[in-house]
Amino acid sequence: MTVVSNLLLPIGRNHKVSNRLGGGPSGRYLYTQGEFGTVVPGVRIQNMTPPNTMISPDSIFQGYIRNSSLNVFSFLICLNLLSACAPKENKKETPTPGSPVILPDAPRNIVDSIRKEFPGAQPVHALADSLLDFVAAKYGITADQILLGASTCVDDIIYTKNFQAHRELKGPFHLGGLAGLPFTGISGLSAFAHHIPEDGTMMLEISPHIGYSKDKGWGYVLRPGQHDPSTCCGALMGTLQKLEKGTLKQTEPTTEDYQGITIDNKVFKHSKEIMADDYPLVAMTKITYQEAEEQILRQIRSVEIEHTKYIVIMAGVLINTDYMYTDYWWLNHFLVYDVKNKVLVEDKKLSITP
Ligand SMILES: [Zn+2]
Repeated sequence: MTVVSNLLLPIGRNHKVSNRLGGGPSGRYLYTQGEFGTVVPGVRIQNMTPPNTMISPDSIFQGYIRNSSLNVFSFLICLNLLSACAPKENKKETPTPGSPVILPDAPRNIVDSIRKEFPGAQPVHALADSLLDFVAAKYGITADQILLGASTCVDDIIYTKNFQAHRELKGPFHLGGLAGLPFTGISGLSAFAHHIPEDGTMMLEISPHIGYSKDKGWGYVLRPGQHDPSTCCGALMGTLQKLEKGTLKQTEPTTEDYQGITIDNKVFKHSKEIMADDYPLVAMTKITYQEAEEQILRQIRSVEIEHTKYIVIMAGVLINTDYMYTDYWWLNHFLVYDVKNKVLVEDKKLSITP
């Protein structure tokens, strides 16, 4: 059995960024002027839709699909079926069904607030394009060789706003439960691994999430068809409310609420540092992300992967914005493992460690 033997890495501790990604064949990498993942204000890939601009499906495909060596994959590309309009300032409006679009950027003050807590966060579609271009150029990994496994929350907003638009990319296999923790465990990861194309690539996305609403800030998001923001991530918000009331405690998980109690228990261990933060939910989300990544890296050591060529791991936090804006992704750790040579060929700590 071939397993990943050297992929278990320390999390959140000074992963040195040593390589530059450069422009690549399409010249559309997001971070051409800096090391991958650093904040480069105002840098956008070519053909990206300006904020607040209505675009047609054709223009999307010209910009993203026809000119790209690799393009869209499920969670990471923002072709939204629910809103074909520019951002609506009046929150009392309800979304109108329309053509697929890449959602516009959130207003600058929202983006600034997001990046203050999640430095380097980028629109998911831009970051996805950059990453996929990179793995294609450097490792020859094409979309039809990839099976995506997603440890994301079960919250519908994730796949309502970000869904699979590129049929060549397979997946996602859902590995996550509440809060994005990989509740399917070794059994789930193992089943997922067996579905990967021969000599293909296991692409793992590890990404708990947090909402940022224009009206209510962290922990909320305005959802399609609703008039008022609701909690996001609801599971983490529920745990935070118990923590703030002083009712959070360590308990034995039950069959009836296994995931919720497990989250409570994990958070309970970090109660002090969470409550000491200016934004406890942000701190809780980052802790959950680290927990999710550590779990996946542990679990993967028990999984048979001999028919797989590469494992690509992308770990971070998804920041959901109100339904009319694109979501943002704080990609904190990017890994590529060469299965046949048993070498970790990329290990980039991309964002500033919280
Ligand atoms: Zn959630």
